[in-house]
Amino acid sequence: MFITDCIFCKIIKGEIPSKKAYEDDKILAFYDINPQAPVHVLVIPKAHIPSVDAINEENCGIVSHIFTKIPQIAKENKLDGGYRVISNCGDNACQSVKHLHFHILGGKQLSENMA
Ligand code: 5GP
Ligand code: ZN
Repeated sequence: MFITDCIFCKIIKGEIPSKKAYEDDKILAFYDINPQAPVHVLVIPKAHIPSVDAINEENCGIVSHIFTKIPQIAKENKLDGGYRVISNCGDNACQSVKHLHFHILGGKQLSENMA
């Protein structure tokens, strides 16, 4: 379930500290160490999935679970004016941590540019 050299697996295990935004038995949300907006939360499955590219019929349930919790996390962080959800997938998208994660960005007017 855990990958030994994966930073986010280490965060799930508590081997690397993080500031928690939400947690249940299947997912963890925590604040990004290098925030790109006033609110920058990462939402990850506890089971290691490398990226969006590895989502399939068998593991896709965790994605819908994550997306049912994102509005709650946004509300708790007062993102009433709107927010952006991003998942970088692969090298061209500059994915730096190979454990599936969704960025929640908000707390200011975000740029129109997505790329
Ligand atoms: P990616 O570039 O893969 O889409 O996003 C990875 C994100 O993880 C980056 O925004 C980076 O700042 C964040 N990150 C990397 N290492 C850590 C860490 O140890 N703790 C926290 N809280 N965030 C991290
Ligand atoms: Zn991992």
